Amino acid sequence: MEQTSALIDGKEIATERSFTSFDPSTGEPLAEVARGGKAEIDRAVAAARSAFENGWGRTAPAERGRILRRVADLIRRDREDLALLESRDTGKPLKQARADVDVAARYFEFYGGTIDAFYGQTIPVSDEILAYTLHEPFGVTGHIIPWNYPIQISSRTVAPSLAVGNCCVLKPAEEAPLTALRLGALCLEAGLPPGVLNVVPGLGEEAGAALSGHAGIDHLSFTGSLEVGRLVQKATAEHVIPVALELGGKSPNIVFADADLATAVPIIVNSIIQNAGQTCSAGSRLLVQDRAHDELVAAVRERFEAITIGPGPQDPDLGPLISEAQRDRVQGFVERAAKSAELTLGGTAPTGDGLDRGFFFSPTLFDRVDPDASIAQEEVFGPVLAVTRFSHVDEAIRLANATDYGLVTAVWTRDVATAHRVARAARSGQVYINTYGAGGGVELPFGGFKRSGYGREKGFEALSTYSQLKTVTLKLPAS
Ligand code: NAD
Repeated sequence: MEQTSALIDGKEIATERSFTSFDPSTGEPLAEVARGGKAEIDRAVAAARSAFENGWGRTAPAERGRILRRVADLIRRDREDLALLESRDTGKPLKQARADVDVAARYFEFYGGTIDAFYGQTIPVSDEILAYTLHEPFGVTGHIIPWNYPIQISSRTVAPSLAVGNCCVLKPAEEAPLTALRLGALCLEAGLPPGVLNVVPGLGEEAGAALSGHAGIDHLSFTGSLEVGRLVQKATAEHVIPVALELGGKSPNIVFADADLATAVPIIVNSIIQNAGQTCSAGSRLLVQDRAHDELVAAVRERFEAITIGPGPQDPDLGPLISEAQRDRVQGFVERAAKSAELTLGGTAPTGDGLDRGFFFSPTLFDRVDPDASIAQEEVFGPVLAVTRFSHVDEAIRLANATDYGLVTAVWTRDVATAHRVARAARSGQVYINTYGAGGGVELPFGGFKRSGYGREKGFEALSTYSQLKTVTLKLPAS
């Protein structure tokens, strides 16, 4: 079984205690992982601070960019190894893991390619005043990430921060920490100076709490649940540092009767089946106009029935959930929902064919869902789709916006005016029209409205997230 250390100041650091990472496809132990705590976080923050003061933030942007693009090349070199490791650690199907690795490489390529074009502005004031802005790094940034897309989210949050000139401490989730550690090693191989990226695995209430409450960090990026997001926000308030919160979602696909259903159905199904529904932006609600309801639900059901289920490395359509606890949680939602909705398909853990030991859950379809029920309001994080009908556009908009979350809204219609109306009215950070997701969306700013959080990752916007703006005003001597 693999044993891992923490990665601090360019060195592998053993910890006194460890924890076990399990393979969700089999329930078997996969790796014994260093259990970093306050001492390791202190050490990592100190290493990041001295790497920052030793000059990473002052390295020419073009040079930082070259190193980040080398990281992208190394991720691509190790694509198969990384994908297999990610698939075993998270249970996700191999093709999904490969796609995640490809997106991780794109983050390093994108930010490595754009950082030397991240200009400030000159501001016209008067002939006697020269005013301009500078984008400066914060210094040390903390990054706490979830288990659902470890290599992708590590790269999404760390690549722009490194590009801007910050030095980072990354705390991966205890359920799936392995590829984040590999990423740290690849960054060193690519020439990132020691201490610029430190990776400290550990438990949330130990390493995570130590990092979010640390007086030595200047910015925190948190991706995870609403509950922990609240804790992290309180912890950062103590030191008055900015925090970017990327939290959960309860995102709707809104399907109007004039939509191209043949195109929509596979994409709608994928939006909830991908990663077994354990995606912040999962399309977990389906709002359908009355006239299209029967045809759409039948087509979704037909595709759900054809879904193959199995261990991630065998590359099925649907892998297991991350843990037994997560499967119990999903089962609990399903049992409560059965009182307020019509269970059309699934609702149980599949058995047989080698599925008994892993944490599998069947594709589950609820129809006639009461929009106030917990299955329509709360993040289930499983392959569970809740269908609710609507009759006209105002009702669709009202239902779409009627949760605490606001991550993604998708609208399916041939009518441009309806699509635009919904896009403008949607209270969410992203709107998709006749599509869902966009190949990882590296270039597209991403983040939440309402309780899905605030701050933006991805795209050019992330360079602003991870930098602070300085305005310089110079009074010119009279000529
Ligand atoms: P989680 O909130 O349980 O854990 C996230 C991270 O926080 C982990 O690294 C964990 O160890 C750490 N943590 C736990 N307790 C902590 C504490 N007290 N102090 C500091 N850190 C602590 O979330 P999860 O179960 O790993 O991930 C699923 C959640 O993440 C879902 O809600 C999902 O929607 C969300 N998510 C959001 C996005 C996005 O971009 N908006 C992306 C992926 C996942």
